[in-house]
Amino acid sequence: LAQLFRPLDLLGMVYRTIRQGVIDMGAMFDLIDTPADVTDAPGAPALTVARGHVRFEGVRFGYDPDRTILDGLDLDVPAGATVAVVGPSGAGKSTLARLLYRFYDVGAGRITIDGQDIAQVTQGSLRAAIGIVPQDTVLFNDTIGYNIAYGREGADDDEVAQAARGAAIAGFIERQPDGYATRVGERGLKLSGGEKQRVAIARTLLKNPPILILDEATSALDSRTEADILATLEAVERGRTTIVIAHRLSTIVAADRIVVLDQGRVAEQGSHAELLRAGGLYAEMWSRQAAERDAALAAA
Ligand code: ADP
Ligand code: MG
Repeated sequence: LAQLFRPLDLLGMVYRTIRQGVIDMGAMFDLIDTPADVTDAPGAPALTVARGHVRFEGVRFGYDPDRTILDGLDLDVPAGATVAVVGPSGAGKSTLARLLYRFYDVGAGRITIDGQDIAQVTQGSLRAAIGIVPQDTVLFNDTIGYNIAYGREGADDDEVAQAARGAAIAGFIERQPDGYATRVGERGLKLSGGEKQRVAIARTLLKNPPILILDEATSALDSRTEADILATLEAVERGRTTIVIAHRLSTIVAADRIVVLDQGRVAEQGSHAELLRAGGLYAEMWSRQAAERDAALAAA
């Protein structure tokens, strides 16, 4: 999704969406919502990512001036680490991802990557450094190869196939009569949520960004598909700075650090074990989800 925000792509996409209904409406409205008032500072240099250390420093932000969403957020994601962000729905988790990608400028404070304020570097260089696997994957009504190759301009067939292997979707594609030339969408192949998710992961692998955001990337999947994809994602996270936004806490137990967002601030943070011991918001969310899992198992 994140890679689609260039204005011409957006127009083309809206058109195709209306014509063919391939792209889901939620994703489209997300795109339309995005204001175009973020601009490069005059003479802005390109971002140079040495290690990929991401920091939010006292970040304040609201979509509307009279409603604060993030209220002095501090978040430190060490280079190469995986930090999970959890919290109630509406806490501002996706907003945090949008700010890092600079869909919006912060109201106060700053966000840095390896010490460079992201508002002071070119948007192109910033966005080239970040890959986002979104909750709802947007597919073009084109071939499956095209949908993967979209991750990086100029990628050749071998690179596309390699990315597909990394995302564990190559076998599936090769079993189709037309292989990578198989069309997806209304008259072509209908992909399941898990398959679309893998296409998004393949796209991101092809992009090969040093910084990765997974925004509830597996929340729409059943738990077996989710377990499958989590294993794939673990491989993708290796060696990259990763922010995992998660709804199901069972998926982020192993994160280096878990940050609990509530009402626009970091309410608590620590390892899974530390947060359980602390007996706060995380512990409460954990026991509620555990009870839901047990109830689902009992019903099955
Ligand atoms: P989360 O991902 O934690 O569920 P979000 O970051 O998506 O939450 O949203 C945080 C708050 O900001 C919510 O109250 C949501 O309604 C609001 N919000 C999100 N996007 C917009 C927008 N484009 N315009 C106005 N308000 C928005
Ligand atoms: Mg969200």
